[in-house]
Amino acid sequence: MPTGSAIIIGSGLGGLECGYILARNGMDVTVLEQDSQIGGCLQTFVRGRALFDTGFHYVGGLDPQGPLYPLFRYFGLMDLPWVQLDRECFDEVVVGDESFPFASGHDLFAERLIERFPSEKDGIRRYTAFLKEVGDHIFDSFMPRDMSDFYTRSLFSRSAYDFLNETVSDPLLRKVLSGTSLKMELNADTLPLYVFAQINNSFIQSAWRLKGGGSLIADSLAGSIKAMGGKVITDARVTSMRERGGRIAEVVINDGEVLTADWVISSMHPSAALALVEDTKCIRKIYRSRMSGLENTFGMFTANIRLKPGSMPYLNRNVYVHREDADLWRPGAGSVDSVLVNWAVPYDNSADAISIDLLSPMYWSEVEKWSGFPLRHRGEDYVEFKNARTEACIELASRRLPGLKDAVDRVYTSTPLSYSSYTKTVEGSAYGIRKDWRSPMTTVLTPKTPIPNLLLTGQSLNLHGILGVSMTSVFTCASVLGMDAIAPDILACRR
Ligand SMILES: Cc1cc2nc3c(=O)[nH]c(=O)nc-3n(C[C@H](O)[C@H](O)[C@H](O)COP(=O)(O)OP(=O)(O)OC[C@H]3O[C@@H](n4cnc5c(N)ncnc54)[C@H](O)[C@@H]3O)c2cc1C
Repeated sequence: MPTGSAIIIGSGLGGLECGYILARNGMDVTVLEQDSQIGGCLQTFVRGRALFDTGFHYVGGLDPQGPLYPLFRYFGLMDLPWVQLDRECFDEVVVGDESFPFASGHDLFAERLIERFPSEKDGIRRYTAFLKEVGDHIFDSFMPRDMSDFYTRSLFSRSAYDFLNETVSDPLLRKVLSGTSLKMELNADTLPLYVFAQINNSFIQSAWRLKGGGSLIADSLAGSIKAMGGKVITDARVTSMRERGGRIAEVVINDGEVLTADWVISSMHPSAALALVEDTKCIRKIYRSRMSGLENTFGMFTANIRLKPGSMPYLNRNVYVHREDADLWRPGAGSVDSVLVNWAVPYDNSADAISIDLLSPMYWSEVEKWSGFPLRHRGEDYVEFKNARTEACIELASRRLPGLKDAVDRVYTSTPLSYSSYTKTVEGSAYGIRKDWRSPMTTVLTPKTPIPNLLLTGQSLNLHGILGVSMTSVFTCASVLGMDAIAPDILACRR
């Protein structure tokens, strides 16, 4: 059993999973969280009888053959109250006044789309088979580099946009296949095929909500870490790291208390983490400026809506509504061209919905002018801006849900500024650093930093989202323990 100690910065999914892996392998783990609540993007909040998720809303691939299943089984998360979304339609894509179902399972997914686009039968089959092939090889990346190159590295160097255009020719079908776009930032110029294929594949495999919200994941992981002897400390903001002799020798919390450990793992945004290491010759200026120059993905505007009792049925699917003229691969700032409607699973299993969330991309540039003001003191114009965005989201969602306006009881909103305040995410980005297939060597980061005992983890590396962050946690901890100490236990959880 390895021994040693690790400080982990951040108690979002990435930090907690790293804490879990290291504690399970006998290390002395301390997770530090700057906020008063753990969870980062897994946090939930309650208003009246409604419980809202802040980030995470649903996951893909939790069925026994799915890619997330062995990971979540390993992390002890399969006993949580997961609810599978409707197999015939887990995501509904609405373009203008037409509606298209995404069905679970590759064959059914293809079949349902072929019914709507018979002339694209071959393209749909090729698309689905390719995604499945990429997904089936996700754990190759636990193997030595030469075995994983084909399905990871090479697909990080290919354009997702080009793949889609080469595979199907009907522009409406391309739009439909891009129509669940909020799971990632669709960017025609940059999005690597690996990200597109791996994430879409996991959801096509099977899609799941969590009754009770994402904080159940955070609570379970934190509970396991503590049960294995580790600590999870809130209101503990890491304010600096001190390098001595080429290693991080001290971690300073809240500009006061000093902690030491053999390893430090940061789940913060990489450039923010490196900025905390002052007075070091180990990190060259050119490296720092390369990291701080990396672009971030868009942020998210969310309208969390508490509904009037009995005003709307619970739908066991997500609905993505797009304007006819929405350019999903080049979304612009300032307008609402697409909105995701997500239903929270009613805690009482009733047929009525208690709350829904409307999510739509929002850029940092749209809110930056209020970034100098403290939380809740951003002025009337910020409130008006959020109200106008809420109305636009409700307006668009109402095309599919005509009764929505009358069903609204209360609305709570968040913008990229909220994330930058609560989770310190740089530019309130929803998915961290923007990976770019044209420059994978500089935008797809590894856990290693120029300081050997300082490692990175979290959504800015490799893949984002629940699946991506879970995979990355394994890669990060492999730099401490060796992949052989972790991978067999995870692969043994496969069915
Ligand atoms: C609106 C939205 C919706 C999403 N929906 C989904 C979804 O439905 N499905 C899905 O798979 N993914 C979704 N995601 C993405 C997913 O939630 C994230 O990729 C993932 O949770 C990120 O985890 P993380 O650990 O990398 O980062 P975070 O959750 O951001 O955690 C980082 C933690 O570090 C802490 N921290 C920062 N600075 C310090 C410091 N100096 N000292 C101590 N602690 C610090 C923060 O407070 C935070 O708790 C969504 C994201 C957003 C924003």
